[in-house]
Amino acid sequence: MNARPRPHLPMRPRWLCRNCAAPWPCGPAQLTLAAKFYGHSIALAFYLAASMHDAVDDAYGLGLRPNLPAMHARFLGWLSQARRHRRSGRA
Ligand SMILES: [Zn+2]
Repeated sequence: MNARPRPHLPMRPRWLCRNCAAPWPCGPAQLTLAAKFYGHSIALAFYLAASMHDAVDDAYGLGLRPNLPAMHARFLGWLSQARRHRRSGRA
């Protein structure tokens, strides 16, 4: 009955996707974010950095020791890759 696609949003405190259970931001979430923040890559970077900060805090809250370089790659690494594909910088 409910045919609407479920959004790919993070489920705290483990930051897994509510929809596909992949580590957030999963592929579909990245596409959604890139579309939502299109033309506002700085704002997107800030949003992802804030999310990463929350995820690190949550990991400590769970008694885990988050791998910070891995967290950075997961939350922000895909961004520079996406930007590299698009060649339209301000030059
Ligand atoms: Zn997902």
